Amino acid sequence: MVRLRFDEDRPTDRGDRAGCPRLTGRLVGVTDQPSAPATGRVLVVEDEMTLAGMVAAYLSRAGFDTAVVHTGIEAVAAVRENEPDVVILDLGLPGLDGIEVCRQIRTFSDCYIVITTARKEEIDTLIGLSVGADDYLTKPFSVRELVARVQTVLRRPRTGSRAHAQKDATVWSFGDLRVDPVGHEIHLCDEPVALTPTERDLLITLAARPAMAFTRAQLIEEVWGAGWVGDEHLVDVHIAHLRRKLSDDPDTARYVTTVRGVGYRMGKG
Ligand code: CA
Repeated sequence: MVRLRFDEDRPTDRGDRAGCPRLTGRLVGVTDQPSAPATGRVLVVEDEMTLAGMVAAYLSRAGFDTAVVHTGIEAVAAVRENEPDVVILDLGLPGLDGIEVCRQIRTFSDCYIVITTARKEEIDTLIGLSVGADDYLTKPFSVRELVARVQTVLRRPRTGSRAHAQKDATVWSFGDLRVDPVGHEIHLCDEPVALTPTERDLLITLAARPAMAFTRAQLIEEVWGAGWVGDEHLVDVHIAHLRRKLSDDPDTARYVTTVRGVGYRMGKG
């Protein structure tokens, strides 16, 4: 594990590949002192050394406590040890690949995971595999966009409607489903349901206002944050995973119901 701080020379965007500037600054020594107050811990998992260094340098400059590893095995160990808030996870890694890393991380951590991949067509496959990532970025990506996404993710109301939840610190019941918005625990027929942070935030958001039909844009604003820019389709993907984990059939949904022409609403159970 290497902790990085970027020196005073700004990295220059040579742009030899669009959106993928080459790092021409100089990475200096190993430090535990980020250049600005840390606003969250980020782990970068990337086997391309130059890209890894550049991404880490930008994140450090933005004030994040940033660490870098280059293999999947190191990644799992680093998440265990350092409990990062966000993991930027390259899909194509030597040895343990990104999918397996994501699965292993999900057995013990609910950190936010952003998968990066060079092949756009892989994203649909990944979504179908339900590996538990929260977001995806196609390479080459703009490092500034990546930093913006990390900032957005860390601004998320992690409990969904936290203010509402704390006023009314009870467990909400919808038939066999119990949603604890303070303890973040979800139980179905008295069994705990393992949800990713995004799935849990979606469910808590819906459950907090069970009479309201949310549009996809409203759910994005509540769960991903107002600054998030991306495809609204991602909401449907996470809803599909959520329904599967709740054994909810989309056609006869008990918990997450479709409101035609609008979006989604909490069901009565
Ligand atoms: Ca790679």
